[in-house]
Amino acid sequence: MIRVGLGYDKHVLTEGRKLILGGVIIPFEKGEAGHSDGDVLLHAITDALLGAAGLGDIGSYFPPSDSQWKDADSALLLKKCWQDVKNAGWVLGNLDCVIALEKPKFLPFRDQVRESIANILEVSKDQIFVKAKTGEKLGDIGQGRAVEVWSVCLLEAEK
Ligand code: MG
Repeated sequence: MIRVGLGYDKHVLTEGRKLILGGVIIPFEKGEAGHSDGDVLLHAITDALLGAAGLGDIGSYFPPSDSQWKDADSALLLKKCWQDVKNAGWVLGNLDCVIALEKPKFLPFRDQVRESIANILEVSKDQIFVKAKTGEKLGDIGQGRAVEVWSVCLLEAEK
């Protein structure tokens, strides 16, 4: 059996915060606002994996109203959710993500980000792909006010 999951997230970009994508700190003048560390890519991935397994979503696991998740490391949050997905009998087929971000250029960091996500999930780097699109200078993305991510995953029932 296979299952598909879709995750989406959006964070405001603001000065005085780190830009963290897939667990990698990307040098930039702004970063993601957020209750946790704001890693918008890991949040979308977490939702895709939980959704595919029918286990809930990141908000039900880690309510923003709960102060223990303030500035939380999103990699640890993802690891906890992924462990539950694996315990439910699923293995990862592949994970594909699109980041909408005007600046900075993502391509120089792509391999590092894929490697980081693969390490967090303990899967092979070739199961993970990430690409980036600009907002063509239009709207929140194009004006550099926000970053968005869509993530799709395929889960396969463990043999
Ligand atoms: Mg988020």
